[in-house]
Amino acid sequence: MCAAFPDFRLGSVLATSFTGTLSERHGTAVERIPTPHRLVDWLVVSGLAVDSCTIAQLDLARELRESIHAAATAAALQEALPARAVHVINDCSAQGRAAAILTPEGKRRWRLSSASRVEDALGVIAADAISIIAGERDGKLALCASPSCQAAFFDTSQSRTRKWCDMNTCGNRQKKARFNANQRKTGQP
Ligand SMILES: [Zn+2]
Repeated sequence: MCAAFPDFRLGSVLATSFTGTLSERHGTAVERIPTPHRLVDWLVVSGLAVDSCTIAQLDLARELRESIHAAATAAALQEALPARAVHVINDCSAQGRAAAILTPEGKRRWRLSSASRVEDALGVIAADAISIIAGERDGKLALCASPSCQAAFFDTSQSRTRKWCDMNTCGNRQKKARFNANQRKTGQP
């Protein structure tokens, strides 16, 4: 059944992996969490396992996602942050009651206050977004160079010159488009 849903595009940054659950925002948008169950799947693979999700919680998650996208986009463009987006992010952060737990192996794990608390998971995501938008982490917010995507991503490359949100999708597509254009120019098949 899950095979019918679009795959996740998971990056190393929680907040922008989350905004990446809607892609091609400026083209034919692809919704990767179309159902509450798919949000549960995404939270599980992102280390924020919950055992259930309601439609209202999915709506809240999507509202947070679009707020992070709006605020991160403004930050990448060095524009004023949209007040409504900031409000939603702060609200989600304040509602979350997840605890960071250090495992015996020295890893961090998130413990939610209950397995049905999607709000706790969203709080962790909101706090992650705050840390990158506030410039507290080593990296730079940038926008994907693909015109149909323009996703905000967190560039942690040494040179801070990464152009695409995801090399395997947007990066490859741009490369192929340029390759085809060059072939047309030179008249080769
Ligand atoms: Zn992209």
